[in-house]
Amino acid sequence: MPAFAGGDQRFSFSLHLSEEQRELRDWVHGFAVEVVRPAGAEWDEREETPWPLIQEAAKVGLYGFDFLANCYADPSGLSLCIASEELFWGDAGIAMSIMGTGLAVAAIYGSGTPDQMVEFVPQCFGDAADPKVAAFCSTEPEAGSDVGAMRTRARYDEARDEWVLNGQKAYATNGGIANVHVVTASVDPTLGSRGQAAFVVPPGTAGLVGTKKLRKLGLRASHTADVFLDDVRLPGSCLLGGRDALEARLDRARTGQRATGQAAMRTFELSRPTVGAQALGIARAAYEYSLDYARTRVQFGRPIIENQGIAFALADMRTEIDAARLLVWRAAWMGRNNQTFEAGEGSMSKLKAGEVAVKVTEKAVQILGGAGYLREHPVERWYRDAKIYTIFEGTSEIQRLVIARAISGLQLR
Ligand SMILES: Cc1cc2nc3c(=O)[nH]c(=O)nc-3n(C[C@H](O)[C@H](O)[C@H](O)COP(=O)(O)OP(=O)(O)OC[C@H]3O[C@@H](n4cnc5c(N)ncnc54)[C@H](O)[C@@H]3O)c2cc1C
Repeated sequence: MPAFAGGDQRFSFSLHLSEEQRELRDWVHGFAVEVVRPAGAEWDEREETPWPLIQEAAKVGLYGFDFLANCYADPSGLSLCIASEELFWGDAGIAMSIMGTGLAVAAIYGSGTPDQMVEFVPQCFGDAADPKVAAFCSTEPEAGSDVGAMRTRARYDEARDEWVLNGQKAYATNGGIANVHVVTASVDPTLGSRGQAAFVVPPGTAGLVGTKKLRKLGLRASHTADVFLDDVRLPGSCLLGGRDALEARLDRARTGQRATGQAAMRTFELSRPTVGAQALGIARAAYEYSLDYARTRVQFGRPIIENQGIAFALADMRTEIDAARLLVWRAAWMGRNNQTFEAGEGSMSKLKAGEVAVKVTEKAVQILGGAGYLREHPVERWYRDAKIYTIFEGTSEIQRLVIARAISGLQLR
């Protein structure tokens, strides 16, 4: 694994990838070619968590905190996007099984104290001999796009210095099979989303139960489940960021002060380029496959790419993919270099990449004709996998809402 030197200095934006970034891209691409792509169809059909592949990723150093920390250290901010695009190019269901843990880790990394990071992050991954996964559980049956409607409650039991959680979480990636669950809950419902906090539920905690794996359109290898929390008792130290930080935040909200830097919104904006990069990986896979097919499939005595209708479709696909990547890289660079997201640039990147993935994979199916509709070719799977990118981590409509609010300065709803 190529290593990046740390440091917080401002880093100029450049489209020229450094040697380390090119090495990272080629290394992850090699893993995607040799390990992930060949296994994609099988694990999609099995609809099971691909533990042997997670283990393989751990063995080569692609799954674990060292890998993520190295990506975070890249001063350009691009490394995680580059790695994600390559891994999801291989297969999205397997890649999500490998990368899904990153959501919980990002929450611990973003809001936790140094002690919490040291204690919980290694437990999210386990080790190569016995890999584990982690889950980030925020969505609820009545609180999807409307995060402020969250009903899961966290009550503090002062006498025992314990938090008691009750509620239900929906559609959590790795929910129920995770070693570590990060769960959001309302501490003060009168404050809406500003009265919420995130908690780590350590391995083996009583009262947390996942449903069986939900059956999905795409990303079928990746485990998705609802999670029930029934009097889940957690040590006080499981509140991410600690009690003083929470009380200070609640006080600010109660006295009507603005949230400092709109912290929660910034966290979402920071994670969105990586999600966009995942969508890009699927789109690029479908584009490359259909380009090859169009060059070799002969109808009316010539390869179908010699029809402008096909060639122009491919030109549009490539243009859209490249445009989406520029938005993804810009937002990733802005996040890493503490730039203000003045126009919802994080949301723009995820919105564009998600919609491009849906359009490009649909077009790829069309270019393959009947073959595109059959499971013998991977494009039907990529078409199914792509759709989630206009839905999770904020739907396309919610991304537009964030952008519209940012550019108008209005609290549009
Ligand atoms: C495979 C998968 C994995 C997931 N993984 C996780 C996970 O790990 N952790 C987690 O917490 N969640 C996860 N989710 C949940 C996901 O983030 C939510 O499904 C998503 O945020 C949308 O919420 P919802 O499904 O309740 O849709 P709703 O909020 O009910 O939205 C329904 C429709 O209404 C639209 N809509 C809602 N409000 C507005 C508005 N104000 N203006 C315009 N349109 C609006 C939406 O855009 C959408 O089209 C996952 C979901 C899936 C399917």
